[in-house]
Amino acid sequence: MFVLDSHCDTPSQILRLRDLGKWNEHSQVDFPKMKKGGVDGAFFALYVPSCMTPAEATAHAVKLLAAVRDTLSENADKAVLATDASSAMAAQEKGLVSVFLGLENGSAIQDSLSLLRLFYRMGVRYMTLTHSDHNAICDSSAPATGRWGGLSPFGREVVAEMNRLGMLIDVSHISDKAFYDVLECSKKPVVATHSCCRALANHKRNMTDDMIVALAANGGVIQINFYPVFLDDGFAAILADSGIEAKGDSVEAAFINDPADPAKRAAWYAVEDELATLERPSYKRIVDHIDHVVSLVGVDHVGLGSDFDGISVTPAGLEDVSKFGVIFDELRARGYSSDDMEKIAGGNFLRLL
Ligand SMILES: [Zn+2]
Repeated sequence: MFVLDSHCDTPSQILRLRDLGKWNEHSQVDFPKMKKGGVDGAFFALYVPSCMTPAEATAHAVKLLAAVRDTLSENADKAVLATDASSAMAAQEKGLVSVFLGLENGSAIQDSLSLLRLFYRMGVRYMTLTHSDHNAICDSSAPATGRWGGLSPFGREVVAEMNRLGMLIDVSHISDKAFYDVLECSKKPVVATHSCCRALANHKRNMTDDMIVALAANGGVIQINFYPVFLDDGFAAILADSGIEAKGDSVEAAFINDPADPAKRAAWYAVEDELATLERPSYKRIVDHIDHVVSLVGVDHVGLGSDFDGISVTPAGLEDVSKFGVIFDELRARGYSSDDMEKIAGGNFLRLL
């Protein structure tokens, strides 16, 4: 079995001075934790905030890519860059963690297929078309109104070029209309690297049953996100009522801008501690979402995309990647076979890769 997490925001944490080679207190992902959790590989997302200009977006993605490559050089005894399934399998045999690269936000390619090709050549194997706002490629699920009414004319060229390159198209974060446009244009299966089921939690970031059926009919995979807000409407209400996240935004921004300042770091950790005191859904809620996808389209179209290091609060019992195994305990308890678990753990995603 190869356990793959298809989405974590760990590169951003490297810029916040986390040393992935050691066990960090107050962290969701580092190499020792991945080892303990039995996670053989993860896609590290080069996450670019939507507020950046196109030029800033490209520069930021390159900065994150450089930070990941440096980290891998410094930890060659623990982890290695992977670009396909066979290199990841070979790394697993050697006891090394595989780090794949994803680009989260197509704003980093500006309006240039040439930049898209460059990121592919640098090892990036999927691109999330947008994030929390529209860009040159398509509309986002977040704003109330769209800019393109789905995929833009340039976005159609991007889809065709990603198909040609063999780069996976990530439909997490894009608007429902853009999702259907991508399915119509793409000649290859597409992935939602970190999304949940809207039937179980009514959030725009989640996928409707109709979308999941269409994704699967096209051969694609939905990788379930661990963020409690996407897992459970009850928790979304608890979090909104608490006001902690709104209050924490400025504290987190101060930490991001000056990660070497111990006081700013401590202030952000205090916010995270406060969030952890809320009544959070159990990790078993993740398996509810897996069950739902399986009931719709079978076991060949679902996997796991934690969003760790991009989420400030986690499910109870799954606070970081070292606890990943609880999901498989729960799947086993619900009657999933070893073959089923192998597919969910990573087999389905690696099939597309
Ligand atoms: Zn995301």
